[in-house]
Amino acid sequence: MTRKHLFNVGALLRGLSITFGYMFRRKPTIQYPSVKKQHAPRFHGLHELRRYGDGKERCIGCELCSSVCPANAITVIGAENAPTDRRSPGERYAARYEIDELRCIFCGMCEEACPTDAIVLTPRFEMADYRRGSFVYDKDRLLVPPAAGVGTPPDERPGGIPGDLGRVAEIKSTVDVAKGYSATWRGEVLKTQRKGLAIIKPPQEAS
Ligand code: SF4
Ligand code: SF4
Repeated sequence: MTRKHLFNVGALLRGLSITFGYMFRRKPTIQYPSVKKQHAPRFHGLHELRRYGDGKERCIGCELCSSVCPANAITVIGAENAPTDRRSPGERYAARYEIDELRCIFCGMCEEACPTDAIVLTPRFEMADYRRGSFVYDKDRLLVPPAAGVGTPPDERPGGIPGDLGRVAEIKSTVDVAKGYSATWRGEVLKTQRKGLAIIKPPQEAS
């Protein structure tokens, strides 16, 4: 047997030792869907459109998210607010707002571009469906319920600037996963609906 052959056998044994090592580690199998994997706080999943605490929509129909989207996945058509029926604190609101989640690459640029923290990405990842059309999320599906609104609208604040801008990004930048889930309404719902959130450790940390 030549030195080359011995080297190959050594490499084979080293490779097999990794395989055997994994056989005796704790298995990362979880009982999905009753138990779901915990994602990182800044995981980019399904979007949601947020509201202020008084129920007004945060979106002011500025179309910045649509302009910045590299996948051309967002359609926004703004309309003027009626004085007797103000949907948002701004002059305009989004009369139509759609995201084609099949086009979306979940980069988060829409969230970063939004001047009112209206559009955010949540930890929700379960979006499977049978028809392509079902992946186009319109405003009815994206907008959170009025009771889920947070923050004081700018028209009720001195200077007209929302007091909580950047809060979503700030909370999501935490390393505390449960706190990161609380940054969005869908994240909060996930926390309460799941029977358990399995925290999967990377293989090198598994005991
Ligand atoms: S996450 Fe990125 S690709 Fe998806 S809608 Fe937002 S900007 Fe577009
Ligand atoms: S979600 Fe934000 S960036 Fe997009 S149109 Fe509404 S206010 Fe503008």
